[in-house]
Amino acid sequence: MNITRQELLSHFDGLLQPERFKDYGPNGLQVEGRSEIRRIVSGVTASRALIEAAIDARADAVFVHHGLFWRGMDGRITGWLKERIRLLLTHDINLFAYHLPLDAHPQWGNNAQLGQRLGLSGEAAFGEQNLGWIAPADFADAAALSRHVEQVLGRAPVCLAGSGRPIRRVAWCTGGAQGFFEAAIAAGADAFITGEISEPQAHLSRETGVAFIAAGHHATERYGAPACAGHVAARLGLEHCFIEIDNPA
Ligand SMILES: [Zn+2]
Repeated sequence: MNITRQELLSHFDGLLQPERFKDYGPNGLQVEGRSEIRRIVSGVTASRALIEAAIDARADAVFVHHGLFWRGMDGRITGWLKERIRLLLTHDINLFAYHLPLDAHPQWGNNAQLGQRLGLSGEAAFGEQNLGWIAPADFADAAALSRHVEQVLGRAPVCLAGSGRPIRRVAWCTGGAQGFFEAAIAAGADAFITGEISEPQAHLSRETGVAFIAAGHHATERYGAPACAGHVAARLGLEHCFIEIDNPA
């Protein structure tokens, strides 16, 4: 099956509803390629490695969580950014990127998909734009939860154990959501899982007794893009594959 670029954009927009979010960059079609699309490659970040892999896979479109354009960029297309864009344009590949809408989707989003893998059935409940999720849980302590996260994601998290109390409520938000920790504490969480940790969260964990688990920005955000692109591709009869570009961060 083939579909036009515009039809595919409408399907992604219809599913992810970017107009509902205040985001750090443009959601939707970021780089225009050929008008007919048969094969989609999804990935976490529109890095050069992903774009080169998509060229090898003969993709007509690339679908990512982290696109090319962010608030605060100075607008020059030079160096590494020029190279990524040159590769896309030379090979006539469309780039679709959805940031917060892909974190937030209740079924195919990063938070929903991470929760599903961790066996947590929760809902969006706290934090900026209600992006943070919370769910009931039953772990003896933060170390037990951390071992579970390590087993599921295949990567050892950084774990601040908090007070060592049993974990009955787990909050999470994928990626660089360490700034959501206070909102998670206010929402009554015993532990908060995100991708990254910054210096203040270690102190907050010690002082509030709430555990903080940094499980990797990439590791926590690699499920939404393939879930969403795979869902849309299946509905439209398109080909889809996810390409993992490992990232230790
Ligand atoms: Zn991210």
